[in-house]
Amino acid sequence: MERTLVLLKPDCVQRRLVGRVFSRFEDKGLNVVALKLLRVTPELAKRHYAEHVAKGWYPTLEAFITGGPLVAMVVEGLDVIRVVREMVGATNGLNATPGTVRGDFSSSRQMNLVHASDGPESAAREIGIFFQPDEIHAYEPTIRPWLRAEDEN
Ligand code: ADP
Ligand code: MG
Repeated sequence: MERTLVLLKPDCVQRRLVGRVFSRFEDKGLNVVALKLLRVTPELAKRHYAEHVAKGWYPTLEAFITGGPLVAMVVEGLDVIRVVREMVGATNGLNATPGTVRGDFSSSRQMNLVHASDGPESAAREIGIFFQPDEIHAYEPTIRPWLRAEDEN
């Protein structure tokens, strides 16, 4: 079982798309084990986007991600890092495949609605930035026997 960090970015909140995007993860049978609304500070943005801080376009990314509250969550499931990245789609909404969140709702390379961790190391690092261990609540959904077979764990 894997965990990934998902952010419903400020454009998602402002456009009232949080419910529809959140529903996609629920519909897929994934487990949301942590959830909060917060305003990202410039310091938090630099930690989260450490790999991009030196890039010429970073200031515009920081202005965007700190420009309003976002929804942060930890999503759990089998192979969930890859599964959620595929559900989110390519970075630029103009290139993202229809059926993905970005493909269906974004026409921008920056305002692409969702962040999802891109690998196990970044997932662990990013979850640690946004959540304390006691804010993460593991549970087994009661419909679990109808989501996948017993031997698929
Ligand atoms: P992803 O979110 O798909 O992993 P990246 O890690 O490459 O994409 O970029 C992080 C975020 O920075 C993107 O989701 C997007 O919001 C923004 N971004 C990416 N490329 C650019 C760019 N050239 N100009 C402005 N913002 C960008
Ligand atoms: Mg990335």
